[in-house]
Amino acid sequence: MLKVVVFIKQVPDTSSKAGVNPDGTIDRARAKRMLNPFDRYALQKAIEIKRQYGAEVTCVTMGPPPAVEVLVEAFEHGADYGILLTDKRLAASDTLATAYALHMVVRHIGAFDVILTGLQTTDGDTAQVGPQIAERLHIAQITYCEGLSISGTTLSARRVVEGGFQEMEVQLPVLITVANSATPLDYKRFGDVAAVKEFLRHPEEREKRIKIVSLDTIGADSARTGLVGSPTVVGKTWKLGEIGGSCVVFQGESMEREVSELIEKLKADGKGVEELINA
Ligand SMILES: Cc1cc2nc3c(=O)[nH]c(=O)nc-3n(C[C@H](O)[C@H](O)[C@H](O)COP(=O)(O)OP(=O)(O)OC[C@H]3O[C@@H](n4cnc5c(N)ncnc54)[C@H](O)[C@@H]3O)c2cc1C
Repeated sequence: MLKVVVFIKQVPDTSSKAGVNPDGTIDRARAKRMLNPFDRYALQKAIEIKRQYGAEVTCVTMGPPPAVEVLVEAFEHGADYGILLTDKRLAASDTLATAYALHMVVRHIGAFDVILTGLQTTDGDTAQVGPQIAERLHIAQITYCEGLSISGTTLSARRVVEGGFQEMEVQLPVLITVANSATPLDYKRFGDVAAVKEFLRHPEEREKRIKIVSLDTIGADSARTGLVGSPTVVGKTWKLGEIGGSCVVFQGESMEREVSELIEKLKADGKGVEELINA
């Protein structure tokens, strides 16, 4: 059976007001949390591989203890196992330190065939972590992958390139960063959600499915993580001003009525709607 590892990150929900600390860092404790939208495509690809070829899907996340929520979400979509890497010594890790820590989780897992990551995150947004993990593991990588198929130990992929597509074949194991033009994450299946609710109620089963590991558990060197292991220096951060503007909602008895109300309003505001209609 194929072994698939998917990296998923919990990020601040961009629709909530994530504050900025006086030192310019994000106030993650106050922000609402969500699964990184780009990682939903990676998770979908993993579930597709599982359904099409038969695979064991392990989701890995690195973050503070609440990050376990994204593992539960992944289980509800059909993932099999979850690993949360959490350790105070990881705080303030840049992409170099993050990729180091995450590749150590893969070494801790042992055998794998396919590693999937999202394209990028909505917080750090560098798209560096996936390729860095592949480099550290000395395996092939395919970035911006939209579609794939597996035959024996050969994986065929279609990746998005400027102005078109590129098709390629590689031997497993491989790391793939999944493009956001790939299939979106499917709805949860009732059976999967019910099964997760059930296993979470049983501590033994929960421990079998969710492993919570520290740097010591995975044999990582803490000097290569956190602030000490991060060569990135943030020069300056600042908050963009509020975007102005207002919104008027037209709610009439019919769409025709709403449209004529809109036209009347535009006319009253002198917005040159006649030219627009006659164009
Ligand atoms: C000085 C400094 C301090 C920072 N301190 C913190 C901090 O304290 N806490 C914090 O959360 N971030 C912190 N960051 C941001 C952090 O470096 C990045 O968010 C992290 O390295 C991932 O990089 P990225 O967001 O650009 O991911 P990308 O490279 O854009 O992500 C690509 C893919 O990699 C995978 N991935 C990335 N990160 C993770 C993860 N944590 N777990 C699982 N999969 C992952 C996902 O599949 C993702 O789609 C800090 C950054 C700097 C420069």
